[in-house]
Amino acid sequence: MTGRVLVVNCGSSSLKYRLVDVGAGQALAWGLAERVGQPSGRLTHSRAGGEPSVVERPLPDHAGALAAALEAFEHSGPSLADAGLTAVAHRVVHGGDRFSAPVRIDDDVVRAVRELATLAPLHNPVNAVGIEVARRAFPGLPHVAVFDTAFHATLPPHAHTYAVPPQWAREHGVRRYGFHGASHAHVSRAAAELLGRPLSETNTVVLHLGNGASATAVAGGRSVETSMGMTPLEGLVMGTRSGDLDPAVVAHLHRVAGLSPAEVDRALNSSSGMLALAGTNDLREVHRRIADGDEAAALALDVFCHRVRKYVGAYLAVLGRTDAIAFTGGIGENDAVVRAASLAGLETLGIRLDEERNAVRAPGGRRVSADGSPVAVLVVPTDEELEMARQTVDLLAAGS
Ligand code: ADP
Repeated sequence: MTGRVLVVNCGSSSLKYRLVDVGAGQALAWGLAERVGQPSGRLTHSRAGGEPSVVERPLPDHAGALAAALEAFEHSGPSLADAGLTAVAHRVVHGGDRFSAPVRIDDDVVRAVRELATLAPLHNPVNAVGIEVARRAFPGLPHVAVFDTAFHATLPPHAHTYAVPPQWAREHGVRRYGFHGASHAHVSRAAAELLGRPLSETNTVVLHLGNGASATAVAGGRSVETSMGMTPLEGLVMGTRSGDLDPAVVAHLHRVAGLSPAEVDRALNSSSGMLALAGTNDLREVHRRIADGDEAAALALDVFCHRVRKYVGAYLAVLGRTDAIAFTGGIGENDAVVRAASLAGLETLGIRLDEERNAVRAPGGRRVSADGSPVAVLVVPTDEELEMARQTVDLLAAGS
């Protein structure tokens, strides 16, 4: 597949973009607009092989952020007019029950993305804004929505059903959807390639450990279980999210501390996780604090790795035969201590890390398990934008 796709990812106060050459499997340029809607903004734009250029100026809204990005393409290159753009791909967080695959965007799709804001109030509205802004900027190009949830559309009912009154699911969409789909799709395929096995015969536990974190059991290329639920709050401990927690905590805090459900929800999403336990959500800083004797930071890391280990054990049981455990994301790709601690004691389950291989820093995908380990342990860099661009090109090729 070939084509050049501009991938756009809008957050509440940011706009990330990447110009991807699908045939080459590479990004030609990328950038980040920060502090959108705030008094001081910043755009950082990079092209492959060049120095990043930084512009500090207010970015009043997402339209202003995209306009600044297009100016940066003009000034610093590569020229978008000459790039031969084939499409614009948009990351959309929640596809609900409605979208189980990427979709070409029309007015109905934008409306549906907005309607799904009931399930993702922080993300879908701003995703829809990004789509509208980019459609105005590139009226002649096809626009495609790629959903974080779509890869998990294959979850069997026993994995996506919560044991709650069924009308909650029917009327209010209360079920597990899963997220980080582009990453889990990309990494499970890359893991099979690294092992030299057909994807359809490869079972992998993918551990996406970044600021957001999720685990997925992938059987033959299909997601069969995943740690995030109706929203990205469930599952692993994250940078600022609690992950799993007794839902009774919400009513308890309401009764004993007068916190509203909205306040608890905000705290569980934005001021919990590593930030709450260690005082920082950057794992590099957590390690520095541990080296300085900070016991809270040490406990936070233990809680983080214990949660990962629990999920690994559970997903080995879900998959039966497991070929690989694949670490990805900012932490999974870079943090050898987390990888080792998360898999410590799992030798009897067939997981044997090679300490030296694990400690080596190297770009690209690699094996960090010992020779003969029944389950291979891999480090696989994720590339969500390349995956989204590929899916976009595939969709358009299938439709033409
Ligand atoms: P996001 O979920 O925002 O995409 P990333 O996957 O980029 O996040 O991961 C960001 C996190 O990765 C940082 O908060 C930091 O904790 C961690 N990280 C990045 N580099 C390193 C490193 N060299 N060692 C340990 N952790 C790292």
